[in-house]
Amino acid sequence: MEQVDQMKQTGQMDRLDHSGNSNNSDGLRRLIEGHKRFLDEVFPGKREHFHLLAEGQQPEWLVITCSDSRIVPDLILGTEPGDLFITRNAGNVVPVTANDVDGVTATIEYAVEVLKVKHAILWGHSDCGALKAALDRKGLTNMPKAQRWLSHVEEAFAHRQPVNPADGENAELASLIRGNVVAQLHNLRAQPSVAHAIAEQRLAVHGWYYDILTGRIERYNEQMRRFEPLLG
Ligand SMILES: [Zn+2]
Repeated sequence: MEQVDQMKQTGQMDRLDHSGNSNNSDGLRRLIEGHKRFLDEVFPGKREHFHLLAEGQQPEWLVITCSDSRIVPDLILGTEPGDLFITRNAGNVVPVTANDVDGVTATIEYAVEVLKVKHAILWGHSDCGALKAALDRKGLTNMPKAQRWLSHVEEAFAHRQPVNPADGENAELASLIRGNVVAQLHNLRAQPSVAHAIAEQRLAVHGWYYDILTGRIERYNEQMRRFEPLLG
Protein backbone atom coordinates (compact mmCIF):
# COMPACT_ATOMS: atom_id res chain seq x y z
CA MET A 1 0.00 0.00 0.00
CA GLU A 2 2.80 2.28 0.93
CA GLN A 3 4.20 1.79 -2.52
CA VAL A 4 0.80 2.59 -4.11
CA ASP A 5 0.48 5.78 -2.05
CA GLN A 6 3.94 6.77 -3.13
CA MET A 7 3.05 6.10 -6.77
CA LYS A 8 -0.10 8.20 -6.45
CA GLN A 9 1.95 11.06 -5.11
CA THR A 10 4.48 10.88 -7.89
CA GLY A 11 1.88 10.44 -10.60
CA GLN A 12 3.16 6.99 -11.48
CA MET A 13 -0.29 5.56 -10.73
CA ASP A 14 -1.66 7.17 -13.88
CA ARG A 15 0.95 5.46 -15.95
CA LEU A 16 0.13 2.14 -14.29
CA ASP A 17 -3.56 2.62 -15.13
CA HIS A 18 -2.93 3.60 -18.71
CA SER A 19 -0.71 0.57 -19.23
CA GLY A 20 -3.83 -1.55 -18.73
CA ASN A 21 -2.74 -3.18 -15.49
CA SER A 22 -5.86 -2.12 -13.68
CA ASN A 23 -9.31 -3.18 -14.93
CA ASN A 24 -10.88 -0.40 -12.92
CA SER A 25 -8.99 2.39 -14.55
CA ASP A 26 -11.16 5.21 -15.88
CA GLY A 27 -9.63 4.72 -19.28
CA LEU A 28 -11.17 1.28 -19.68
CA ARG A 29 -14.44 1.80 -17.84
CA ARG A 30 -16.49 2.58 -20.94
CA LEU A 31 -15.21 -0.54 -22.67
CA ILE A 32 -15.88 -2.75 -19.67
CA GLU A 33 -19.41 -1.39 -19.36
CA GLY A 34 -19.91 -1.91 -23.07
CA HIS A 35 -18.76 -5.50 -22.78
CA LYS A 36 -21.22 -6.03 -19.93
CA ARG A 37 -24.06 -4.71 -22.12
CA PHE A 38 -22.90 -7.05 -24.90
CA LEU A 39 -23.05 -10.06 -22.58
CA ASP A 40 -26.38 -9.01 -21.03
CA GLU A 41 -28.28 -7.65 -24.02
CA VAL A 42 -26.67 -8.68 -27.31
CA PHE A 43 -25.13 -12.12 -26.85
CA PRO A 44 -28.28 -13.89 -25.57
CA GLY A 45 -30.22 -12.89 -28.69
CA LYS A 46 -27.49 -14.19 -30.99
CA ARG A 47 -26.49 -17.24 -28.97
CA GLU A 48 -27.21 -19.70 -31.81
CA HIS A 49 -25.29 -17.57 -34.30
CA PHE A 50 -22.24 -17.47 -32.04
CA HIS A 51 -22.63 -21.19 -31.38
CA LEU A 52 -22.24 -21.80 -35.12
CA LEU A 53 -19.39 -19.30 -35.41
CA ALA A 54 -17.50 -21.06 -32.63
CA GLU A 55 -17.09 -23.98 -35.06
CA GLY A 56 -15.53 -21.87 -37.82
CA GLN A 57 -16.01 -19.01 -40.26
CA GLN A 58 -17.13 -18.77 -43.88
CA PRO A 59 -17.02 -15.06 -44.70
CA GLU A 60 -17.96 -14.12 -48.26
CA TRP A 61 -16.26 -10.76 -48.23
CA LEU A 62 -12.67 -9.70 -47.70
CA VAL A 63 -12.36 -6.05 -46.70
CA ILE A 64 -9.09 -4.15 -46.92
CA THR A 65 -9.57 -0.81 -45.25
CA CYS A 66 -7.88 1.87 -43.19
CA SER A 67 -7.14 1.67 -39.46
CA ASP A 68 -9.13 4.87 -39.02
CA SER A 69 -11.53 4.67 -36.06
CA ARG A 70 -14.36 6.20 -38.08
CA ILE A 71 -14.62 3.27 -40.46
CA VAL A 72 -16.87 0.72 -38.78
CA PRO A 73 -17.68 -1.81 -41.52
CA ASP A 74 -20.37 -3.83 -39.69
CA LEU A 75 -22.19 -0.63 -38.75
CA ILE A 76 -21.96 0.89 -42.23
CA LEU A 77 -22.92 -2.30 -44.08
CA GLY A 78 -25.32 -3.89 -41.63
CA THR A 79 -23.22 -7.05 -41.42
CA GLU A 80 -22.80 -9.49 -38.56
CA PRO A 81 -19.93 -11.35 -36.91
CA GLY A 82 -18.67 -13.94 -39.37
CA ASP A 83 -19.58 -11.92 -42.47
CA LEU A 84 -16.51 -9.79 -43.14
CA PHE A 85 -12.87 -10.89 -43.11
CA ILE A 86 -11.00 -7.65 -42.50
CA THR A 87 -7.43 -6.45 -42.74
CA ARG A 88 -6.70 -2.84 -41.81
CA ASN A 89 -3.70 -0.57 -42.03
CA ALA A 90 -2.87 3.10 -42.39
CA GLY A 91 -4.02 4.13 -45.86
CA ASN A 92 -5.70 0.81 -46.83
CA VAL A 93 -2.54 -0.28 -48.57
CA VAL A 94 -1.79 -3.53 -50.41
CA PRO A 95 2.02 -3.52 -50.40
CA VAL A 96 3.86 -4.69 -53.48
CA THR A 97 6.52 -6.91 -52.02
CA ALA A 98 8.37 -8.97 -54.57
CA ASN A 99 10.67 -10.85 -52.23
CA ASP A 100 9.23 -10.22 -48.82
CA VAL A 101 6.07 -11.06 -46.95
CA ASP A 102 3.86 -8.78 -44.89
CA GLY A 103 0.70 -9.10 -42.82
CA VAL A 104 -1.58 -7.59 -45.43
CA THR A 105 -0.70 -9.79 -48.37
CA ALA A 106 -0.50 -12.90 -46.16
CA THR A 107 -4.02 -12.14 -44.92
CA ILE A 108 -5.28 -11.62 -48.47
CA GLU A 109 -3.75 -14.93 -49.55
CA TYR A 110 -5.41 -16.76 -46.65
CA ALA A 111 -8.78 -15.17 -47.40
CA VAL A 112 -8.64 -16.11 -51.08
CA GLU A 113 -7.01 -19.54 -50.90
CA VAL A 114 -8.42 -20.95 -47.65
CA LEU A 115 -11.62 -19.05 -46.86
CA LYS A 116 -12.42 -18.69 -50.55
CA VAL A 117 -14.06 -15.29 -50.19
CA LYS A 118 -16.12 -14.30 -53.25
CA HIS A 119 -15.44 -10.55 -53.11
CA ALA A 120 -12.48 -8.42 -52.10
CA ILE A 121 -13.25 -4.80 -51.30
CA LEU A 122 -10.53 -2.16 -51.23
CA TRP A 123 -12.05 0.57 -49.09
CA GLY A 124 -10.68 4.10 -48.68
CA HIS A 125 -12.28 7.04 -46.90
CA SER A 126 -12.48 10.83 -46.75
CA ASP A 127 -10.09 12.77 -44.47
CA CYS A 128 -7.59 9.88 -44.50
CA GLY A 129 -4.56 10.77 -42.37
CA ALA A 130 -2.25 8.57 -44.44
CA LEU A 131 -2.94 10.48 -47.63
CA LYS A 132 -2.82 13.79 -45.77
CA ALA A 133 0.66 12.82 -44.62
CA ALA A 134 1.61 11.87 -48.17
CA LEU A 135 0.63 15.39 -49.25
CA ASP A 136 2.54 17.01 -46.41
CA ARG A 137 5.38 14.92 -45.03
CA LYS A 138 6.48 17.47 -42.43
CA GLY A 139 4.52 15.72 -39.67
CA LEU A 140 6.40 12.48 -40.19
CA THR A 141 9.90 13.58 -39.22
CA ASN A 142 9.92 11.52 -36.00
CA MET A 143 8.21 8.51 -37.52
CA PRO A 144 10.65 6.59 -39.73
CA LYS A 145 8.42 3.51 -39.93
CA ALA A 146 5.36 5.55 -40.96
CA GLN A 147 7.50 7.31 -43.57
CA ARG A 148 8.56 4.02 -45.07
CA TRP A 149 5.02 2.65 -44.94
CA LEU A 150 3.66 5.68 -46.78
CA SER A 151 5.95 5.01 -49.71
CA HIS A 152 3.21 2.48 -50.56
CA VAL A 153 0.72 5.28 -51.28
CA GLU A 154 2.99 7.19 -53.69
CA GLU A 155 1.19 5.60 -56.64
CA ALA A 156 -1.95 7.45 -55.58
CA PHE A 157 -0.54 10.59 -57.21
CA ALA A 158 -0.46 8.83 -60.58
CA HIS A 159 -4.13 7.83 -60.27
CA ARG A 160 -5.59 11.07 -58.87
CA GLN A 161 -9.28 11.37 -59.72
CA PRO A 162 -10.99 14.50 -61.07
CA VAL A 163 -11.68 17.03 -58.34
CA ASN A 164 -15.31 16.83 -57.19
CA PRO A 165 -16.69 20.24 -56.11
CA ALA A 166 -19.06 18.42 -53.74
CA ASP A 167 -16.01 17.64 -51.59
CA GLY A 168 -15.64 21.35 -50.84
CA GLU A 169 -12.36 22.50 -49.36
CA ASN A 170 -11.18 18.90 -49.08
CA ALA A 171 -11.57 18.25 -52.80
CA GLU A 172 -7.84 17.96 -53.53
CA LEU A 173 -7.29 15.47 -50.72
CA ALA A 174 -10.41 13.52 -51.72
CA SER A 175 -9.20 13.20 -55.32
CA LEU A 176 -5.90 11.79 -54.03
CA ILE A 177 -7.66 9.38 -51.66
CA ARG A 178 -9.78 8.09 -54.55
CA GLY A 179 -6.55 7.80 -56.56
CA ASN A 180 -5.12 5.67 -53.78
CA VAL A 181 -8.11 3.33 -53.97
CA VAL A 182 -7.38 2.86 -57.68
CA ALA A 183 -3.65 2.36 -57.05
CA GLN A 184 -4.22 -0.19 -54.29
CA LEU A 185 -6.83 -1.94 -56.44
CA HIS A 186 -4.08 -2.50 -59.03
CA ASN A 187 -1.82 -3.89 -56.29
CA LEU A 188 -4.63 -6.14 -55.10
CA ARG A 189 -5.22 -7.54 -58.58
CA ALA A 190 -1.48 -8.16 -58.89
CA GLN A 191 -1.40 -10.48 -55.87
CA PRO A 192 -0.84 -13.99 -57.30
CA SER A 193 -3.66 -15.58 -55.30
CA VAL A 194 -6.06 -12.80 -56.32
CA ALA A 195 -5.07 -12.91 -60.00
CA HIS A 196 -5.52 -16.68 -59.99
CA ALA A 197 -8.96 -16.51 -58.34
CA ILE A 198 -10.14 -13.76 -60.72
CA ALA A 199 -8.99 -15.84 -63.72
CA GLU A 200 -11.04 -18.75 -62.35
CA GLN A 201 -14.01 -16.39 -61.96
CA ARG A 202 -14.43 -17.16 -58.29
CA LEU A 203 -13.43 -13.72 -57.00
CA ALA A 204 -14.52 -10.17 -57.82
CA VAL A 205 -12.60 -7.10 -56.64
CA HIS A 206 -14.12 -3.72 -55.82
CA GLY A 207 -12.80 -0.25 -54.98
CA TRP A 208 -14.80 1.92 -52.59
CA TYR A 209 -14.57 5.46 -51.29
CA TYR A 210 -16.49 6.24 -48.10
CA ASP A 211 -17.44 9.80 -47.23
CA ILE A 212 -17.54 10.21 -43.45
CA LEU A 213 -19.62 13.40 -43.54
CA THR A 214 -22.51 11.96 -45.56
CA GLY A 215 -22.04 8.27 -44.72
CA ARG A 216 -22.25 7.42 -48.41
CA ILE A 217 -20.11 4.96 -50.36
CA GLU A 218 -18.91 5.41 -53.94
CA ARG A 219 -17.64 2.49 -56.00
CA TYR A 220 -14.99 2.62 -58.68
CA ASN A 221 -16.30 1.74 -62.13
CA GLU A 222 -13.18 0.24 -63.70
CA GLN A 223 -14.58 0.31 -67.24
CA MET A 224 -15.63 3.95 -67.07
CA ARG A 225 -12.65 4.81 -64.82
CA ARG A 226 -14.70 6.85 -62.45
CA PHE A 227 -16.30 6.69 -59.02
CA GLU A 228 -20.10 6.36 -58.85
CA PRO A 229 -22.57 6.18 -55.97
CA LEU A 230 -22.94 2.64 -54.63
CA LEU A 231 -26.65 3.31 -54.33
CA GLY A 232 -27.62 4.31 -57.86
ZN1 LIG B 1 -7.33 6.47 -43.38
